[in-house]
Amino acid sequence: MLDRLNRPLRDLRISVTDRCNLRCPYCMPREVFGPEFRFLAREELLSFEEITRVARVAAGQGVTKVRLTGGEPLLRRDLDRLVEMLAGVQGLSDIALTTNGLLLARYAQRLRDAGLDRVTVSLDALDETALRSMSDTAVSPEVILEGIEAATRAGLEPIKVNMVVRRGRNDHCVQDMAEHFRHRPEIVRFIEFMDVGSTNGWRATDVVTASEILAVIGARWPIEPLAPERKGEVATRYRYRDGGGEIGLIHSVSSPFCGGCTRVRLSADGQLFTCLFARSGHDLRGLLRSGACDDQLERRLCEIWAGRSDRYSDERSRAMDSPEMAPKIEMSYIGG
Ligand code: SAM
Repeated sequence: MLDRLNRPLRDLRISVTDRCNLRCPYCMPREVFGPEFRFLAREELLSFEEITRVARVAAGQGVTKVRLTGGEPLLRRDLDRLVEMLAGVQGLSDIALTTNGLLLARYAQRLRDAGLDRVTVSLDALDETALRSMSDTAVSPEVILEGIEAATRAGLEPIKVNMVVRRGRNDHCVQDMAEHFRHRPEIVRFIEFMDVGSTNGWRATDVVTASEILAVIGARWPIEPLAPERKGEVATRYRYRDGGGEIGLIHSVSSPFCGGCTRVRLSADGQLFTCLFARSGHDLRGLLRSGACDDQLERRLCEIWAGRSDRYSDERSRAMDSPEMAPKIEMSYIGG
């Protein structure tokens, strides 16, 4: 199944909740997502059975990889039950989770036992002050590092550590982060700050580009590029010449990779988005709850994918000076 730009469907990102226990200003600013904010009610969320149905139908159309995300996915009660259900779906060979790691130490083994393959942990700084500034929450990096250790003990490897780099906030922490994870099995991926959502006050000047990040790391430890592991990989890989391991750069702003994008995103309330920067989604929950059979669901999915022509980042990179291309959906809703 190919979209209008000849891209196959391979990955399904599933947001299991729109809630989070952090208030990162670049994702869920406290002024917007405060006590008055109306998060989705329980009955608005897709049930685990509904999510699994969508995953089964998607697997029938070529999806092999599922990533659970949010909001913070570990806030969804009994998530291990969903993992177990997804692990039973024929055709899915990779079930991953993206988490901020705060609850990972508690759940890592349970998730592994349920069939989770691996985790990606978001960690924007090892320095407590910088981490608090990036997350606008009184968190300790130690708790997240303990989560990473628990995930390693549980065998949820290879573990990737995502660091969003924002100018003036945590760009001074790049070398420390690289140093901490050198000679360790975890792979740090440095992410350019993206203009996703409409409330994070994105400005092009806040973006620290992948080449700037590489220059900072390369100045201390010589690095060299690595070939991609698979087609459509989001991160460009590098390795330290001294054998210190591997890092990744996610340059979605300075050098977008829409051409290789094989992802579709299911929001917690069952909207299907064909791009992280989409303006609207396609409602699957209504279809699921109207008694549609799998054939109908499959037809709808094929129709949506066949009509897909999104290449937002490619287009935006040509218009870097006018970021206000369109109001966009929040990352916490659509799932990062
Ligand atoms: N709560 C989970 C977590 O923290 O990993 C999963 C959801 S979070 C939205 C997924 C990822 O998106 C995180 O690594 C976060 O840092 C990243 N993210 C959110 N907003 C972003 C932005 N504007 N630019 C780049 N990355 C962003």
